[in-house]
Amino acid sequence: MTPEAVAARVVSSSAEMRSEVEGSRRAGRSVAFVPTMGYLHEGHLSLVDVARRHADEVCLSVFVNPTQFGPGEDFDRYPRDLERDVSLAAERGVRWVFAPSRSEIYPHAQTVWVDPGPLAERLCGRTRPGHFRGVLTVVLKLLEIVRPDVAVFGRKDFQQSVLIRRMVEEFALPIRVEVAPIVRERDGLALSSRNAYLSGKERARALSLSRALRRVRAEFAAGAADASSLAALARRVLVEGGVRVDYVEIVDPVRLDPVDTAEPSSMCVLAGYVGPTRLIDNAPLGEPCSL
Ligand code: AMP
Repeated sequence: MTPEAVAARVVSSSAEMRSEVEGSRRAGRSVAFVPTMGYLHEGHLSLVDVARRHADEVCLSVFVNPTQFGPGEDFDRYPRDLERDVSLAAERGVRWVFAPSRSEIYPHAQTVWVDPGPLAERLCGRTRPGHFRGVLTVVLKLLEIVRPDVAVFGRKDFQQSVLIRRMVEEFALPIRVEVAPIVRERDGLALSSRNAYLSGKERARALSLSRALRRVRAEFAAGAADASSLAALARRVLVEGGVRVDYVEIVDPVRLDPVDTAEPSSMCVLAGYVGPTRLIDNAPLGEPCSL
């Protein structure tokens, strides 16, 4: 452990969290915030590294948000290990781990929600109705509790990052949003807390997601620009790899609508099931990325 680890502090009360951050800011120290659902991996920790580059102190939250899970989804079995999370965060220089209880964030049944609008009806929103309403609602609550200067999110959840940018902009929240690149295993698998669900065989099948993205990027680099052919190629790689496809699309990186002709900034976004586990991944067609 580094000496910084000693400074990490676990906070469960919203009032205390807010006053800690206010204290820092009064002392002239800026604060960056990294919201997570815990079971931390190198992807989350890379967001902490980005956060530290943008602010003097980092607050990381661990909260498995019930309102973004649909009925029958994995809320109950979502992996949790707060003790381990706190020590990993501390080693990376996190000052506060905000780990509120469910009743701290939802003292009563929620009646007022952030309506994420039409962008949330596409892609993941089609399979997970209500998901982004839950995400934006909890992110707004957390941003209001912590009131950071900067908030850092991962590109791994691409649609989420687009919606959060929109919310921050349209509600004029006084926060800078940073979106950090996807961290992958050496073989291409995007890190995810849900990878813990995969058996050895399933993990091998899960590699089809990054393989499909690589193939599409290679085809685009070789001159292919017809979006529907590129999406069909990705879909074929997924199916051949034993993934049950949820969606594969080539979309505009801001509007999230499908494009006809792919450009370097167009995003290939995909989701599929490996056994019961739903995985997502994405990559720009022609811009540098971690693939
Ligand atoms: P989660 O705990 O899954 O809600 O993720 C918390 C944050 O970490 C979100 O902003 C995710 O996009 C980000 N994240 C998750 N996995 C990765 C990854 N492999 N690389 C970069 N960021 C990630």
